Amino acid sequence: MSPNLNPNRKRMAWVAGVVVVLALVPVVAGSFTVSLLNDIGIGALVALGLVLLTGVGGATSFGQAAFVGIAAYATAWLTTTQGMSPWIGLLFALLLTGLSALAIGMLTLRLGGHFLPLSTIAWGLSIAMLFGNVDALGRHTGLSNIPALQVAGWSLADPRAMYYLIWVVVGLACLFSHNLLQSRPGRAIRGLRGGATLLASVGADAYRVRLSLFVTAALFAGLAGWLYAHMNRFVSPSPFDVRASIEYLLMAVAGGLGQLAGALVGAALVLVLKNGLQDVLPMLTQRAGQLEAVAFAALFILLLHFARGGVMGLLRGWRRRWTQRRGTTQGPSRHDAAPVAPLAHRTLPERGSQVLSVNGAVKRFGGLVAVNDVSFDVKAGEIVGLIGPNGAGKSTMFNLLTCTLPMSAGQVRFLDHDIAGMPQRAVARLGLARTFQHVKLRPHMSLLDNVALGAHSRTRSGILKAGLRLDRAEEQQILQEAQRQLDRIGLGDRAHELAGSLPLGTQRILEIARALAADPVLLVLDEPAAGLRRKEKMALGDLLRKLREEGVTILIVEHDMDFVMKLVDRLVVMNFGSKLVEGVPSAVRADERVQAAYLGSVV
Ligand code: ADP
Ligand code: MG
Repeated sequence: MSPNLNPNRKRMAWVAGVVVVLALVPVVAGSFTVSLLNDIGIGALVALGLVLLTGVGGATSFGQAAFVGIAAYATAWLTTTQGMSPWIGLLFALLLTGLSALAIGMLTLRLGGHFLPLSTIAWGLSIAMLFGNVDALGRHTGLSNIPALQVAGWSLADPRAMYYLIWVVVGLACLFSHNLLQSRPGRAIRGLRGGATLLASVGADAYRVRLSLFVTAALFAGLAGWLYAHMNRFVSPSPFDVRASIEYLLMAVAGGLGQLAGALVGAALVLVLKNGLQDVLPMLTQRAGQLEAVAFAALFILLLHFARGGVMGLLRGWRRRWTQRRGTTQGPSRHDAAPVAPLAHRTLPERGSQVLSVNGAVKRFGGLVAVNDVSFDVKAGEIVGLIGPNGAGKSTMFNLLTCTLPMSAGQVRFLDHDIAGMPQRAVARLGLARTFQHVKLRPHMSLLDNVALGAHSRTRSGILKAGLRLDRAEEQQILQEAQRQLDRIGLGDRAHELAGSLPLGTQRILEIARALAADPVLLVLDEPAAGLRRKEKMALGDLLRKLREEGVTILIVEHDMDFVMKLVDRLVVMNFGSKLVEGVPSAVRADERVQAAYLGSVV
């Protein structure tokens, strides 16, 4: 293959190759291989949900088999005891799985740290236990005589026929997930690992994003459960217990949590290995069952030691080294597409009108008063600087006025709203965009995607629309806007590079582009020039002045006094949490109290 082939076309070629091979398998393979591949397809479907939930979203679930079970039992019960069609069974199964996931998610997804994985074990255990103790579900014997599927009068009772249905579903689920990751909700999902504050700063609700992701992953498991029930024509509790959940997680980890293909590779690896062990171990010992568990534990530990990224992670690493050695050129660096209508802009407030008013702001951290009764105003079209020695409380002040931290006392008015106590994301949606002193970017997302995340609150597409690719018109608008903001900060030609590859100073500038993509009324920048070279600082100064001309209001914390003095219209000086002085740069520079605070050295 030509090294200069477009990476997208290269991937398409791969996918087409895999599809052709999969389509031919039942023609040439024996029935054992076909059933194994059916199991792999079903496993891959569950693992795909886990790649999204755990790999991309960062929430570990040890209870995914329970969702497979809910769907399998739902369709089994409906089609056997109620005599309904398996297609009604599919709707019922997905409905029940989705609602259970919603309920469980609402109860557990707010739990932080280790509590979430622990709680998934708890409901994983309890749901499996439920199956074994309900009379209507056949208790431990389960439900049998589940009808085979029929498609247009054609029976799928034969595993070879079922094979095609399973793999079409797996293919569609992969496509859905692929589309999803490259969309507005997908970027929010990929942003989850950056923390709730990052998402809230672009107007997104991390809890809701995680909940919708959790339900999506559960629905994938639900689809798998429905297929399972009508393939095996029999359900009993044990395939849906916590051991099975762990096996699904092992598939996702072994294949590689970082990539969708990891789900397929992992499911194949685990199930082929399991089959192999089931053949070999009985020859060695009579306790084959226990030894199988030990072998899997060993596999897990080896993986975590040597290949955290799973098989796909290894392959990717090799490919990167290979392309580096050959100096293969990369794909296009800009997002160039036919121009589309720009996203709607806010009407900015009239120049000179009040944008922000902080009144008696107080923040206590235990005994420490980090912000002590600070008041100031910012008017539309101004650049106001907030300065003061290290530890003066500037960043804390920014966190208060963006509602990133709750205030201990005081009021903040932004435009026509009293915002103290409002959720940070709601304030962001009103047009208050910020950057962080400690950069909050997603290093493994491209520059373009990081900036596009900023436009979250200006756009609407959800998971279903994105997965079905019905969001393309809006997506083009978002990407065009992101490219425009990248051009503005001078990084337009590096749109497809990873944000983590930028030097720290440049990452701060990238955060400004993300904030600008939100079309802000007020831009709040915490030390944007730190780590920049002289020329870059000058370019930043020019950009901020240009934004002021366009009517954007800017509040900035900066340590480089030369930079600040030349830029701002007004300064607020803080020291030990209190406001020391407020005024135009020349007056502040001449103020003795300010000079004393800085020991006369900097100002
Ligand atoms: P600046 O940005 O002006 O350098 P900060 O606002 O970061 O100052 O910090 C002001 C004071 O508040 C410092 O003494 C700092 O240690 C303290 N502080 C900041 N954040 C926290 C926190 N989350 N918990 C406890 N103390 C904090
Ligand atoms: Mg600070």
